[in-house]
Amino acid sequence: MIRIALPNKGRLAESARELLERAGLEFDMTHERSLVATLGDDFQALFVRANDIPEFVADGAADLGITGRDLVEESGRALEILLDLRFGRCRLAVAVREDDPREVRKLPSGTRVATTFPRLTERYFERVGTPVEVVPISGAAEIAPHLGVADVIVDLVSTGSTLKINGLREVGTVLESTALLVASPEVLESDESAGKLRELVAALESVIRAEGKRYLMANVRRDRLAEVKRILPGISGPTIVDVLDSGEYVAAHAVVDRGEVYRTIAALKSIGATGILVTHIERLMP
Ligand code: AMP
Repeated sequence: MIRIALPNKGRLAESARELLERAGLEFDMTHERSLVATLGDDFQALFVRANDIPEFVADGAADLGITGRDLVEESGRALEILLDLRFGRCRLAVAVREDDPREVRKLPSGTRVATTFPRLTERYFERVGTPVEVVPISGAAEIAPHLGVADVIVDLVSTGSTLKINGLREVGTVLESTALLVASPEVLESDESAGKLRELVAALESVIRAEGKRYLMANVRRDRLAEVKRILPGISGPTIVDVLDSGEYVAAHAVVDRGEVYRTIAALKSIGATGILVTHIERLMP
């Protein structure tokens, strides 16, 4: 069994579970609040705090883990990144009070910076060239400037609404983060696990790839096929299927980028396409 550490709660938990299920791995839990579950035939899921996952994987308590890049980098542990899972997108940002007009490079040396990410904060201000006093805290950094604990904070930002509500202004980015699939260097050296890891990565990749695509079908006149080919490039050109009519119409099928669906439909309509269908794709292996 390959042990995979998953976040037990928080922003990443639900998406991690959903991704694994969509890749075809079924969770089998004895109880809803159980801390372990079997996951398909080859994996065992361990539910732990997202913050602890880099340590658990690096120490060999788990073979794989899903957690945020922010936490992986903050841990400073040697982990192999197998895949960027694209969810849990956020940034580790520098923020000051709204009424503080200073930018990052204008902060004087000795400025106090409150954060739950002391290591990344230290490294960032070294790069900027300003020696700061990092004040490590365990949560809710947003309150620190108002309590006089620090002038500046470094915290995770997703929409930015928490900063705004707390009267703070973003002035710099320490790190862009998404969820990652990470592995211990040892598990990668094991011949026994290699095949299973490759299959897992391929399955997850196929789900992630499919997420950015849609399957589009439309009926078009046969004499417009040259234009259809231009509008629907597909993966290797559109698939053209006969429609059982007099031979005047064909069905054109193609995979299109999610962001291109709107424009593609308009272009198909302009050449008289009818019966346009757009569907989700579960997995895509080119
Ligand atoms: P927002 O108001 O959307 O900018 O979210 C900011 C709050 O959510 C802060 O308290 C962050 O610590 C937390 N947060 C945002 N994104 C993430 C993430 N991907 N992982 C963990 N915490 C996050």
